[in-house]
Amino acid sequence: MRINVTFSFDDGCLYDFKTINILQKYNLKATFFVANHHNNVPLDSSKIKELSEYSEIGAHTRNHLDLRTLNYEEQFQEIDYNKKYLEDILGKKINVFCAPFGYYDANSIKIAKELEFTGFRTTLDMNIKRNGFLIKTTLQLYPHNPKILLYHLIKNNLKMFLGNPFLISRLNFFELFLFFYSYLRQKEEYTTDTLHLWGHSWEIENIKYWFTFEKIIKLICEDEFYPIYNSEVKSS
Ligand SMILES: [Zn+2]
Repeated sequence: MRINVTFSFDDGCLYDFKTINILQKYNLKATFFVANHHNNVPLDSSKIKELSEYSEIGAHTRNHLDLRTLNYEEQFQEIDYNKKYLEDILGKKINVFCAPFGYYDANSIKIAKELEFTGFRTTLDMNIKRNGFLIKTTLQLYPHNPKILLYHLIKNNLKMFLGNPFLISRLNFFELFLFFYSYLRQKEEYTTDTLHLWGHSWEIENIKYWFTFEKIIKLICEDEFYPIYNSEVKSS
């Protein structure tokens, strides 16, 4: 069984280089969604260029605002400015977009399509499937408490929850990772299903989650896996 695996990291910060060093050691691929400005120290143009040599770069807006609070025109400026900025630096098209905080509305989707993105990464965790334009995710690399994980499970993949009631006793990052991972291992030889782990490199540093990060990577590497970028996740 070959497992499709993709990683994504939001915001763009110097710790992204720590992330990519680990992923490269195991031949895994990641997409980094880079904003011009956010609460941490953003990457300058030379660092964005350097990061792009080892990864895929996606757009993440100019000022990292909650898009739902902005009108159509304001949202357009936020997304368009960032996309053009990244494209100027890299000299190539930016194909994927991710909204700050995972917050977006119908206008955000419309604008992302108008700007010819091919995919819109969400934070719709607990999924192993892409849904057309929307790229869903499996888990955030973060130790959310059981209540939050249960909320995500019920909201984002009720079918999976109802079919696996024992998950109620396994509501932590590592147990859920093992569940989705073993679920994928049971799939037939060819599947578009993808393990999609996402997070923030600065957050992994803040909460000292590098050990867990590398631990799950080592587990993935015990099997035959197929590393892909976010833009390569296929719809089922
Ligand atoms: Zn962000």
